[in-house]
Amino acid sequence: PPFAIINDSDFLETLEQRDWISGISEAIKVALIKDKTFFKYIADNAVALKNREMEPMQYVIYKCAEMHMHHIAQGGDPFESGSSRPLDFGHWAAHKMEFMTNYELRHGEAVAKGIALDVTYAQLVGLISEEDLQHILDVMIAIGFDLSLPVQNDDKIEQLLNGIEEFREHLGGQLTITLISDLGIKHDVHTIDMELMSKAITKLNHQFALN
Ligand SMILES: [Zn+2]
Repeated sequence: PPFAIINDSDFLETLEQRDWISGISEAIKVALIKDKTFFKYIADNAVALKNREMEPMQYVIYKCAEMHMHHIAQGGDPFESGSSRPLDFGHWAAHKMEFMTNYELRHGEAVAKGIALDVTYAQLVGLISEEDLQHILDVMIAIGFDLSLPVQNDDKIEQLLNGIEEFREHLGGQLTITLISDLGIKHDVHTIDMELMSKAITKLNHQFALN
């Protein structure tokens, strides 16, 4: 673990827009699995965040860091050696999409797409409502994320789906994918219905690709 983390917000101003928004996806991630109020803050400030307003960005960074730190320090599993890694919400697909695009996607951009995919899947299996799903997607779009997935044909869909097994291998042992059952409530699953996940990919790309 690091001895200290220096968080100097002056550096933020040097970022180009895609990097400015990229980090926000990790805040969305932790808010969705742990804190509905924080998600509401992000939703209410989506446009301000997109427009590089420093005050909401500072709050988001502080809160996000605090929640990650609290999870790691108080979660009883600081090295995440167990099979449940809620902070990896949205990350099985993110890691795979970063690889599939030869790392042209920023990590945060891939995480936004990965969250979009996993919440779309969560709606398809009946964990969350269509209304909550659209709200989450709307917030990410308002911040400026492109939620289309870099999979234009069946081969690529197949390749992306392989990411689930690779994620399991990476963790070792039983597959655990963190989804949500409500805004702010994480929900672990140990099996993924590949047909429905494939449907989620197609649904998302119908909604967002080539717009
Ligand atoms: Zn991440």
